[in-house]
Amino acid sequence: MNRVLRRTKIVATLGPATDRPGELDKLLQAGVDVVRINMSHGTAADHQQRVKNVREAAARQKREVAVLVDLQGPKIRIGRFKEGKVELQEGDNFALDCRVGIADGDITQVGLIYTQLPQDVGPDDQLLLDDGRVVLQVVKVVGERVECRVLVGGDLSDNKGINLLGGGLSAAALTDKDKEDILIAAEMQADYLAISFPRTAEDVEVCRQLARQAGLEAHIVSKIERAEVVADDATLDAVILASDVVMIARGDLGVEVGDAKLPELQKKIIKRARHLNRITITATQMMESMIENAIPTRAEVFDVANAVMDGTDAVMLSGETATGRYPSRVVEAMSGICMEAEKSCTTRKSTHRIDQTFEAVDEIIAMASMYAANHSSIKCLAALTESGNTPLLMSRISSGLPIFALTPHVDTCRRVCLYRGVYPSLISYTGLNASEIRQQVLNQLLQEGVVQPGDRVLLTRGEQQGALGGTNRMEVITL
Ligand code: PGA
Ligand code: MN
Repeated sequence: MNRVLRRTKIVATLGPATDRPGELDKLLQAGVDVVRINMSHGTAADHQQRVKNVREAAARQKREVAVLVDLQGPKIRIGRFKEGKVELQEGDNFALDCRVGIADGDITQVGLIYTQLPQDVGPDDQLLLDDGRVVLQVVKVVGERVECRVLVGGDLSDNKGINLLGGGLSAAALTDKDKEDILIAAEMQADYLAISFPRTAEDVEVCRQLARQAGLEAHIVSKIERAEVVADDATLDAVILASDVVMIARGDLGVEVGDAKLPELQKKIIKRARHLNRITITATQMMESMIENAIPTRAEVFDVANAVMDGTDAVMLSGETATGRYPSRVVEAMSGICMEAEKSCTTRKSTHRIDQTFEAVDEIIAMASMYAANHSSIKCLAALTESGNTPLLMSRISSGLPIFALTPHVDTCRRVCLYRGVYPSLISYTGLNASEIRQQVLNQLLQEGVVQPGDRVLLTRGEQQGALGGTNRMEVITL
């Protein structure tokens, strides 16, 4: 008893560093809830092997771990240099030209595959290369050639990404590679599918349709990383509503809007998403220095804690686990920071949608349950659920109480791994009557070690077992 559960979930990117023997087991033991497969790197065979290893490691540890496949998207990149890299000086002239051979770059020019660039930019636009380390100002566009002057110099090496300050590159969100990768994600039965650089709700819809056609019912994660998506509230809300999850993709978003705007945007996106009953992941550079070092910087400790206080569902690790020196140690450190930060925000007061009217019956039950639990001595909530929607709705309300999602479906178990304060528990109720099911639920809660005899729990369920959205009753049970 008195097991303390971390509410904020941890997403860890897999890569060469987690392929080292024994590393994956350590990573899961350290508390990873969701693994991210980054389609920008590696081969299909690498990805398939990693997912297989994760499923096996999770089974060994008797726990659920969700798999998130992150599509590369239309990240626009320069070609390669004859010498591998060049060193640009402030004031130099430098051109981007798709007629230059893809491996023939030099100190004056470099090739690129994106043929649309000359149409997308004009004089005085600023192009940010390598996440903004090198900045070019467009001088003029001559046919296929974008002639620039170097504003911020530095080393520029092969295949670095290009962003346009303020956004507006017109590349379609789903590339041919992404479409092929959706088929691979379907084979792996990914729980989450992330779309990179969506511009609108339609982009998200197209991604969902393609996944469906491939036989994949994954929940869709929209990475918020284009300036135009955050430029007005209507577009942002529409993208959030079209998605199941949004990721605050601070790497590319910061390059497009300017890093100084990120903290406010992070708070705003998390708030809007929670309000609209959607899940959030805060991503990129959260523990960056731990790629090399055994401890995080103070600034990183604050960053993770602040994201928790902002109300994010999950925090994400990229290079820290994929290529870093201490994958499992980063997860342990991050986990500790989250749990400390949660102590300061286990508020039992919530004004979530206080002025709204609820229509759906499961939503009425979920909202009433959280109010009741937060204002009483109830120790935990248990939701018998098919799709995981009732625990999702419950978890939008701030609370220090654990929410158990009891479901007979493995895919629902995995999916709720991403929801803040929600914990999966697989239950089989075939052939059981209502009171036997109730007993089974209570037994499982006792086994989970978060309640003991005499404690009160709040249970929600539907009259009709197996019906989606059928939750229509709540009961308070003293164990
Ligand atoms: P990426 O996305 O790591 O795939 O670029 C996250 C981000 O842009 O922050
Ligand atoms: Mn990105």
